[in-house]
Amino acid sequence: MLARYTAELILCENNNACGECPCCKNIENDAHPDVVFVKKACGGKYAAEPFREVLKSAVILPNNGKYKVYIFEDCDSMLPVHFNALLKLIEEPPAHLRFIFTCMNTALIPETILSRVTEYEVPDPTTEDCEQFLIDIGTERARAKELSEAFSGNFGECLDILNGGDAKIQAAVRKIAAAIAARDNFTALAELSARTERTEFYRIFDYLANVFRDAAAIKYGQTAENSDKESAEKIAQNFSEKEICDMSEAVFEILSDEVYNMNTALGASYFISGIV
Ligand SMILES: [Zn+2]
Repeated sequence: MLARYTAELILCENNNACGECPCCKNIENDAHPDVVFVKKACGGKYAAEPFREVLKSAVILPNNGKYKVYIFEDCDSMLPVHFNALLKLIEEPPAHLRFIFTCMNTALIPETILSRVTEYEVPDPTTEDCEQFLIDIGTERARAKELSEAFSGNFGECLDILNGGDAKIQAAVRKIAAAIAARDNFTALAELSARTERTEFYRIFDYLANVFRDAAAIKYGQTAENSDKESAEKIAQNFSEKEICDMSEAVFEILSDEVYNMNTALGASYFISGIV
């Protein structure tokens, strides 16, 4: 939402992100030819291949205005290969390029990237803000309260659920994360092995990545923002920084799926054996 607004600030015909001009309207509808969203692919991961196509088109001048804006979402889930591919472009960007990166945790962004961007911290919405937002978009009061509390005011997670999202998957993630937190790898493996559908399997790891990211954040004295708080806190309590890092890496290894195009059962045991 904020990334779009920033793109409007850059491209708006009235120079104030008016939300009314054709430029702003197109950005809001994801239809502006000079605004490129670089998103994670299905399965919630960035493709292992660096953004070859994206970067190729970056040198082409904008269609409409002065600038071309690239928005990279959740860049804390990018792999080193992506950051490396971006580095050169960020170092000496052509005058017509603007980059917007969004992420939850800047601790996961390499210093080489961080030193070349301006960082803006977006304050966390409170659960009350979230509840009010959900009511404003037509959610029933009790449901809005329940959701905003369950997800500690995370708008995105609440919207996911309201949009038919994946409550079942999140329940599974909670179970798996709780088992991992209790060092009960047997239960974690059994839960993971029960997921034979690939999209579902990867979605779980996507959520687990958030849990470990939050656990790492808690270790660094920050707050959990993006996942089931309780599991993240337990993992932060029961594991060392190094162990949490290793677990994150094991998750990303599964998500990057580079080495093995393995079946889910094999993936599950590979992951569990990697975290003990
Ligand atoms: Zn405008």
